Amino acid sequence: MITLKEALTKSKEELAEMRIDLKKRAKSSELNAYISYDASGEGVPILIKDNIQVEGWSVTCASKILQGYIAPYDATVITKLKSVGMMAFGRSNMDEFAMGSTTESSFYGITKNPHNIEHVPGGSSGGSAAAVAGGIAIAALGSDTGGSIRQPAAYCGCVGLKPTYGRVSRYGLSAYASSLDQIGPITQNVEDAMILYDILKGHDAKDSTSAEINEGKSIIDETRKLTIAAIDNYISEASPEIQEAYAETLKAFEDAGHTVIHKNMTNTKYDISTYYIVATAEAATNLARYDGVRYGNRAPSSSVEELFYKTRSEGFGEEVKRRILLGNFVLSSGYYDAYYLKAQKVRHLIRNEFNKIFDEADLILSPVAPNTAPKIGSMQDPLEMYKSDMYTIAINLAGLPALSLPVKKDSNGLPIGFQLIAKAFNEQAIFDGASSLERAMGYIK
Ligand code: GLN
Repeated sequence: MITLKEALTKSKEELAEMRIDLKKRAKSSELNAYISYDASGEGVPILIKDNIQVEGWSVTCASKILQGYIAPYDATVITKLKSVGMMAFGRSNMDEFAMGSTTESSFYGITKNPHNIEHVPGGSSGGSAAAVAGGIAIAALGSDTGGSIRQPAAYCGCVGLKPTYGRVSRYGLSAYASSLDQIGPITQNVEDAMILYDILKGHDAKDSTSAEINEGKSIIDETRKLTIAAIDNYISEASPEIQEAYAETLKAFEDAGHTVIHKNMTNTKYDISTYYIVATAEAATNLARYDGVRYGNRAPSSSVEELFYKTRSEGFGEEVKRRILLGNFVLSSGYYDAYYLKAQKVRHLIRNEFNKIFDEADLILSPVAPNTAPKIGSMQDPLEMYKSDMYTIAINLAGLPALSLPVKKDSNGLPIGFQLIAKAFNEQAIFDGASSLERAMGYIK
């Protein structure tokens, strides 16, 4: 598949032909990465996660409850794509309401990992990552609340960027946890991620949390020497092969002339508890709007109460219901102080800890997940699944930017990805470090 950079040099006719070919190949693919093949307009086709509004499209967050809902407007990111000669092309599969780490909770069935179809592609943006890595999308948009761009990119062997919170407008993104959600690119390489990021970023009056910082184009500085922090106590939780790859990656940085320093951080178990309190609390609130009155599916009923009850009981899947229950529990009177308020305080501590490291380092190198992509069906225990998010969620709690990129494959041929994390609004350091690593490790899909 040609890269985004190459696609931008193609003529209108060439692009039209390419889209026909892409649709044909996506339709016959066994990955189940696409939910639909909608197309809006002309230009370079970008695959869109099924939780980003595209005017006139069905947008369902891969949930039964949103069947029949048609988006009445474009998300700001879609308006931006259209303004530079790109177009929304196809809806990608995802975990229901972006809650999950495997894309197994989708109403449309599971997506498969292009490196081994018995394995999951990760989640929740599993369709976007599988399509890009599997050669049936040039580039895609995903959303990342606790790792949903970076982790599927790592499992599938492509590049995924979660921008700084507030960098990209969330207007038109179906909210999961509003203080954590960010839209970002999933691409074949670092340069393409940077190209898309430059298009997506910028202040938007329609999103009050979007930052009033408008800077120019990102430019990779190949000569820049960076200080990279390794978090020594983090790595012990990862599989032996990932630990080995981590050491090799640090060495590659040093060989390329960068400086590596060693640090420790608080145990990741606090990250997991804090995230799953904050995220479920916000999710319970955000998902209260799906009641059969305003959006999508409506269960036949004889009273308003029955309407709410039946629509929500039938429309939401198991994982979404679990989180709504958990979220309402941590927000309920008597438990609010013990759980929610405490989690907000720990969130501050996590942010401070990161910032202390960024006093000395430009970037932190971290695993994206403790293992490579698990087998389909092997993640049955929800707590096990939550634990597998240990390396990604703290970055959302702290609002930081992070990019995951593949470095090598494990002994089963499954990709290993690492993430580079930077200070808020310092995406440029990430692009410089990631492209240096991409050159040094020579990862080939
Ligand atoms: N796996 C995490 C969760 O289920 C992250 C999901 C996401 O980033 N949308 O909450």
